[in-house]
Amino acid sequence: MPNSPAVDTQVAVVGGGPVGMLLARELALLGVHVTVLEKLPAPTGESKAGTLHARTAQTLHRRGLLKAVQPGPPAPPVGRGPVPFHFSGMFDLDLSRVVTEGPVMVGSPQAWAQEVFAAEAEQLGARVRRGRELVGLDEEAHAVRLTVRDSRGATSTLRASWVVGADGARSAVRRLTGIPFTGTPARVGALIGEVRLLDPARAPQGWQRNPRGWTLVWLNLFGRSRVCTYDFRGPHPDRQAPVTLDEFRTEVERIAGHPVPMDSPSWLTRFSDAALQAEHYRVGRVLLTGDAAHVHFPAGGQGVNLGLQDAVNLGWKLAAEVHGWAPPGLLDTYETERAPVAEAVLENVRAQVALMDPDPRMDALRTLFARMMHFDDVNQYLGGMISGVDVHYDTGGPGDPLAGRFAPDVPLKTGDSVTSLAELLHAAEPLLLLLTDSEDLLEAVEPWRFRVKVVTATAAGQLGTDALLVRPDGYIAWSARGDAGDADSLTGALGCWFGDPA
Ligand SMILES: Cc1cc2nc3c(=O)[nH]c(=O)nc-3n(C[C@H](O)[C@H](O)[C@H](O)COP(=O)(O)OP(=O)(O)OC[C@H]3O[C@@H](n4cnc5c(N)ncnc54)[C@H](O)[C@@H]3O)c2cc1C
Repeated sequence: MPNSPAVDTQVAVVGGGPVGMLLARELALLGVHVTVLEKLPAPTGESKAGTLHARTAQTLHRRGLLKAVQPGPPAPPVGRGPVPFHFSGMFDLDLSRVVTEGPVMVGSPQAWAQEVFAAEAEQLGARVRRGRELVGLDEEAHAVRLTVRDSRGATSTLRASWVVGADGARSAVRRLTGIPFTGTPARVGALIGEVRLLDPARAPQGWQRNPRGWTLVWLNLFGRSRVCTYDFRGPHPDRQAPVTLDEFRTEVERIAGHPVPMDSPSWLTRFSDAALQAEHYRVGRVLLTGDAAHVHFPAGGQGVNLGLQDAVNLGWKLAAEVHGWAPPGLLDTYETERAPVAEAVLENVRAQVALMDPDPRMDALRTLFARMMHFDDVNQYLGGMISGVDVHYDTGGPGDPLAGRFAPDVPLKTGDSVTSLAELLHAAEPLLLLLTDSEDLLEAVEPWRFRVKVVTATAAGQLGTDALLVRPDGYIAWSARGDAGDADSLTGALGCWFGDPA
């Protein structure tokens, strides 16, 4: 229950897409009274994204969710050979060479993952209200008043201590809060649809670039195939206009240069390469996450990954704020940590779109670029970006080479039982992992014991340190390695990240 009688809920999450639902699960897991307001009366079942990259998979593994988000057989761990992936439509990257833990990619249609998160969130006590559209937002002294319209057109109000806009690219929360959404405008008009291809052999195969544009076909001989077109002559004049089968077929045929018979469309929509980011992720009691905070062309399948990692970064910090123990500035680290990650994704996507230009004068540059992708360093650099495994944060721990890095999952032996670092993070609690009997470190953590899980273990794998303080999102707050590895610096890190124990 909300601890203030003046509010109906501690956190209102507006938008029940994959990001909003995962955030609701994180908050509910941490005992926050959370309400999700979702405009649609029922999920559409449509999935724009179909795969998750390594860092998202590793993050979900730290909540015990990795298996559940895969409707098919679980993806094997890295080490089973190359995993080719593309940059700008050139499949010359090998992501298996940049990933050191878990699967390189997992098949997880976003509609499926969203409903897994929703079911878990509800089980943990979150209220998911479907058919509720946010239409008004007023910030009051200690709460935010939301005006909500239901599917019959009736409006009601809801007071929340905090509001998170997870309501997608055209976020009402962002608009109503007046947060500017800025970046680079669209230059590409893209269409995507799922249709039955009546003569699959005559359809363009795979990813095709020619001077008229791009066609991308994911062939399904037993049902509808996913087809996509990129037109570099300019964006569509009306981004919201519905796409008809006629327009779609005409565009596929224009680029392919021959008839491509199709029927039975199930999903037709248009998108662009506008790359935009919210200028602030937080204004007062309102925060933004997922596509509400950043949008870009879907090159490299990074959007949903970015959003899910936003949710896991934000969840524990907002929960700490709600429960009253957040140290000053903790919640603001959500923006300082996550906005640069999105900025970097927007940059790599802009670069991919520039290289995708169908002008034949780009061919030599593409050939050169594709060759360079086989250099180890280039593969590491681009693969690290796309898979998200290069993400680390500036946690302000000078002299500590591990601070801000993602804590690796290692098998651990504690007394008679066997566990792993990932398993110890399932409850999203801060973790002090000790691979030593240091009395000093135990004494330092003593006042935080009710908030920080302390585990003394032996590690089968190499962690490179005797002690790690791990945040609930899996990133290292402090380690015993380096110049600042003593009990005093541990006390400093505990206070900085996990508040005043008094
Ligand atoms: C064509 C296309 C292909 C893509 N392919 C990929 C891919 O392969 N890989 C990848 O990682 N990403 C991909 N993306 C991006 C990915 O789909 C998004 O990043 C992802 O959907 C973001 O999730 P979200 O929860 O932030 O927002 P959304 O999925 O947009 O969810 C927002 C939710 O908010 C609800 N809502 C909106 N307004 C209101 C309101 N006023 N009140 C209440 N509820 C509201 C909506 O109904 C919706 O359910 C693709 C995008 C496109 C357009």
